[in-house]
Amino acid sequence: MSHPSPSTAEARVIDGRAVSAEVTDAVARETRRLVAETSVVPGLAVVLVGENPASQVYVGAKGKIAAGLGFHSVQRTLPAATTESELLAVVDALNRDPAIHGILVQLPLPPHLDKTPVIDAIRPEKDVDGLHPVNVGRLSNNDPRAMVPCTPAGCLVLIKRSIEGPLAGRRAVVVGRSNLVGKPVAQLLLGENCTVTIAHSRTQDLPAIVRGAEIVVAAIGRPELIGGDWIARGATVIDVGMNRIAAPERGAGKTRLVGDVAYEAARRHAGAITPVPGGVGPMTIAMLMANTLVAACRSVGRAVPVLEGGR
Ligand code: NAP
Repeated sequence: MSHPSPSTAEARVIDGRAVSAEVTDAVARETRRLVAETSVVPGLAVVLVGENPASQVYVGAKGKIAAGLGFHSVQRTLPAATTESELLAVVDALNRDPAIHGILVQLPLPPHLDKTPVIDAIRPEKDVDGLHPVNVGRLSNNDPRAMVPCTPAGCLVLIKRSIEGPLAGRRAVVVGRSNLVGKPVAQLLLGENCTVTIAHSRTQDLPAIVRGAEIVVAAIGRPELIGGDWIARGATVIDVGMNRIAAPERGAGKTRLVGDVAYEAARRHAGAITPVPGGVGPMTIAMLMANTLVAACRSVGRAVPVLEGGR
């Protein structure tokens, strides 16, 4: 296969907003079908502890999209001083509520609360964030009952949309090994039979490793760490990073959002690349809605609908 020359062609930009809209449309369609055929309305509960402004924005957006899809959408807002046992009592009540199919506890929690016992308390079948150890294990076992974390699931949809033909045998490099993004992305790609390398802060000669990849997923949290000339000709680049940096060119005190990949330079090498913003970001909420619908379908023993991206 011939690849575009870096001097004559730029990478195709992967439009995460458009793909997320398609996923959301598919969720809306399947939700209408579920309601019409079973009277079950997917129910999503989002729990927010404290007043982290970014979390408030995320939670508000999730609730709005869920309501727009016709979901039963519940938000539990608890004061910053909430104790672990109070939070666990809220999770327990949602676990027992038959109208709720998905529970998401917005992270990060205030510093006095440990997220582990809270995540462990969510019933795995309602864990739409996919962070419960049972779901982590199921993903690792390629068990179709796994609830897959939303951002990694969104990355896989974008990769499948960007690459013609099977993923099997492709060389994929995931930079970052967090439980939230890097590790589940690597598991998903392994599940697709890619040859997966996971890189992290102790990795030696990262540029050489990235240069060997046909698929690069960057989930680091360091602005433009991945140089454009690290990207192999024609590679697919999924940039999960969201880094706010100073933008004096926009005026005093202004900032802008950049990814983990030096986007403009990488576009001259990659075959396809996600922008920041407008790439992976919009996929996360769409996949949360998809997970909630899947949980609702499973709650009545119904086959899981095929949503965009082959889920
Ligand atoms: P994280 O928990 O901080 O993990 C970062 C990973 O990057 C770690 O595994 C770390 O290695 C690795 N790393 C750090 N510096 C490195 C270096 N110089 N070279 C190679 N690897 C390095 O972050 P995260 O939660 O996975 O998030 C990563 C990024 O994605 C952040 O910018 C975050 O805002 C963004 N994000 C976006 C979305 C979305 O919806 N778009 C969702 C979640 C996260 P060690 O393990 O060795 O420390």
